[in-house]
Amino acid sequence: LIALDRVGKRFGETEVLRDVSLRVGRGEFVSILGPSGSGKSTLFNMITGLLPADQGELKVNGEIGYMQQKDLLLPWKTVMDNITLPLRLKGTNKKLARERADALIDRVGLRGYEDRYPGQLSGGMKQRASFLRTFLASGEIMLLDEPFGALDSMTKSAMQTWLLEVQEAFGATILFITHDIEEAILLSDRIYVLSSRPGVVKEELTVGFGLGDKRERLLDPQLLRMK
Ligand code: ATP
Ligand code: MG
Repeated sequence: LIALDRVGKRFGETEVLRDVSLRVGRGEFVSILGPSGSGKSTLFNMITGLLPADQGELKVNGEIGYMQQKDLLLPWKTVMDNITLPLRLKGTNKKLARERADALIDRVGLRGYEDRYPGQLSGGMKQRASFLRTFLASGEIMLLDEPFGALDSMTKSAMQTWLLEVQEAFGATILFITHDIEEAILLSDRIYVLSSRPGVVKEELTVGFGLGDKRERLLDPQLLRMK
């Protein structure tokens, strides 16, 4: 569904990405792992179409929903209005949009916060609200740029488990960006490792866990540590 061939990007004098080639197939959970500044968000922004590529070829087949690293909620709208906004923009009527959000609001721990404003939420709550917004708006492909970065480990683990359930239930295709190696190993079918400066794909790793195995590891962090 996503194919990049020798994509490159520079900002003025600075070359950020060079010859990046990668593929994401239907139903796959693929992570891009790399240190801060290696160009992960730049790559993400090119795949979503927010940023043009300078070099190479980039193809996306399918409707994508995405969550940027700094995904902003509109401060003058309530949590519920923020979450349902993309659905409303796609033409879903208000009642149906709210019903769909309402069915999942418990999963992100925001029950009771529907009518608050983003300024009244913690950082992690805002992140969960924007995750739910992305999820509801996504077509078949979901692109996530460090979506759980601001979450405590318990909440993070719950959200990771949910994401795996989503992948299983909807056959979703997920491109996940993270600098957290454990998280990448835990969640992905395949990982592309970006080297720093300029970001090229250093390695492509296949992770040998089935979905059930991943879940087991999530529920029991000891297992991961012992490996
Ligand atoms: P992090 O893990 O910290 O989010 P990242 O891998 O997502 O890092 P990017 O945000 O893609 O890194 O940035 C890669 C490099 O490109 C950095 O050196 C950054 O300074 C530079 N850069 C990003 N956007 C721009 C821009 N609009 N103009 C100039 N330089 C930019
Ligand atoms: Mg980034």
